[in-house]
Amino acid sequence: MSFALYPGSFDPPTLGHYDVILRAAKVCKKLLVGVACNTSKKEYTFSLEERLQLLKTLVQAERNIEVVRIEGLIVDFAKREKIDFLIRGLRAFSDMEHEFQMALANKKIGGIETLFFMADSKYAHISSSLIREVAACGHHLKDFVPDVIEAEISSRFKP
Ligand code: ADP
Repeated sequence: MSFALYPGSFDPPTLGHYDVILRAAKVCKKLLVGVACNTSKKEYTFSLEERLQLLKTLVQAERNIEVVRIEGLIVDFAKREKIDFLIRGLRAFSDMEHEFQMALANKKIGGIETLFFMADSKYAHISSSLIREVAACGHHLKDFVPDVIEAEISSRFKP
């Protein structure tokens, strides 16, 4: 049985992420959801601690899912933790180029395979950046983020 890592920014976590998390957890023995820490120089809307906490709230009832922070390169973390494969989600063709490049790099550098989950048609339009825009304009987020974390996410955008 396998041990998988779903790495991402989760800034914030969305219904699309949550769907991939639950589907991936069904096909592996244990799933780590890894929040990227310093792999990118981009500014995050939610701090690392906030993103970890939001994800922990989401998966607290799941026995085989754990939320972790990823320091450094994902492949180094994956090797250290003896991860069997990485999980990523694919929405439209626009995700393909970046995901293909990352998967090949992770295979080359760390010898680790990436398993892709196609976005569910209900969530294929959802991204963290869309959520940030919708929330910043004062709209509710119930169609975009899981109920249990909606209030926490919305409150960050209140003036
Ligand atoms: P990153 O900055 O690493 O791309 P994201 O949090 O944006 O982090 O995304 C993490 C992974 O989740 C990526 O593989 C992305 O394609 C996937 N993903 C994002 N939104 C969705 C969605 N709505 N449905 C399925 N997969 C998704």
